[in-house]
Amino acid sequence: MKNVVLLGSTGSIGTSTVKVAEDLPDQVRLIGLAAGGNVGLLAEQTQAHHPSTISIADETLLPELSKCIPDTVEIYSGDEGLIRLATLPEADIVLIAIVGTAGLKPALAAIRAGKDIAVASKEILVMAGEIVMREAREYGVKVLAVDSEHSAIFQCLDGKPVESIRSIWLTASGGPFRETPPEEFAEITLDQALKHPSWVMGRKITIDSATMFNKGLEMIEARWLFGVEMNCVKVVVHPQSVVHSLVEYVDGSMIAQMSTPDMCLPIQYALTHPERMANQRVQTNLASIGTLQFEEPDSERFPALDLARRAGEVCGTLPAVFNAANEVAVDAFCEGKLSFLGITKLVSDVMDQHQVVTHPDLTQILESDQWARRHAATLI
Ligand code: NDP
Repeated sequence: MKNVVLLGSTGSIGTSTVKVAEDLPDQVRLIGLAAGGNVGLLAEQTQAHHPSTISIADETLLPELSKCIPDTVEIYSGDEGLIRLATLPEADIVLIAIVGTAGLKPALAAIRAGKDIAVASKEILVMAGEIVMREAREYGVKVLAVDSEHSAIFQCLDGKPVESIRSIWLTASGGPFRETPPEEFAEITLDQALKHPSWVMGRKITIDSATMFNKGLEMIEARWLFGVEMNCVKVVVHPQSVVHSLVEYVDGSMIAQMSTPDMCLPIQYALTHPERMANQRVQTNLASIGTLQFEEPDSERFPALDLARRAGEVCGTLPAVFNAANEVAVDAFCEGKLSFLGITKLVSDVMDQHQVVTHPDLTQILESDQWARRHAATLI
């Protein structure tokens, strides 16, 4: 039985994690839940799973929340609540599925309290991968991947040393605009960008999949998680989203992990690792899928990939700036203040104007994040 703290329980990854806990009642116990503002769903999850402690980001919602849950449950709010949950003495693992950068401090607090972490929030490793992985080594805790691509790599590597890797191949569905001609990109609307062909996900990551910033963030995430140089991390477009990623070994063998797309599978693996638990949820019929296609990504239509490579090669504070500028750009696109093409242009401009700090500490990373947000807002 693993005692699991779930940060971001009301989101897309959060609700899939709750399903995994319901599938595996003898293996996974939810002892802490944190949400942003969805009081109704957090209260429902609390009544169903009886966590000892919960937290809501918005402090003004505390009175409403406390009315709907038993007195025995401890309730916190804001950043303090996330840290409380991440360091609960009885927790074995903290799964972080908060969109944006709010998961970074709780991730470090969990590591320093000796907890394994399962990371869905890729922003954590993009911004501070060097620090997070160094601290995880120092405190002897595991950093487990929840992202389907990184879970796939983790499964394919199965403990092999980094010297045995020739390349890590991240697969990308290509998003809704894989076949859209370049001249139509200027007219892409929010509704079109929100229609992902193979995954149902939160709003931010869906837009990031349409621009391929999501794959860019994953490239940097992979670099830190698996301890490889950026030139080892490659991307191949695979529209069926059945091969979740591959490892190419030094002898030329390629090992892939495959299944029909369902986030419950990588979540379950992160929570039960190193065991595999029986679950009928995912059933993959290769004959009915029929064809698996692979294509070179088009970096002219999707310049986010080259920007990510640059950020991951330069490192220092540049990945944090890449991430923060993209968050501001996505919000502006969703509010109709920026065009689809404007997203990449804005991120590129902010990156060009940043004075990179090499080997930054956490304060310098957070300052660069804030600088990038302010600068991006000014440019908009
Ligand atoms: P959603 O937008 O669906 O959910 C975000 C969650 O974070 C919600 O539960 C939200 O609460 C909560 N939240 C937001 N701010 C805070 C805060 N300050 N404190 C506590 N909780 C907060 O996002 P996704 O689930 O799609 O994505 C979450 C992370 O996982 C992202 O980093 C994404 O890149 C990554 N990821 C997602 C995948 C997917 O399939 N969705 C796949 C791989 C990675 P509320 O709703 O109550 O406001």
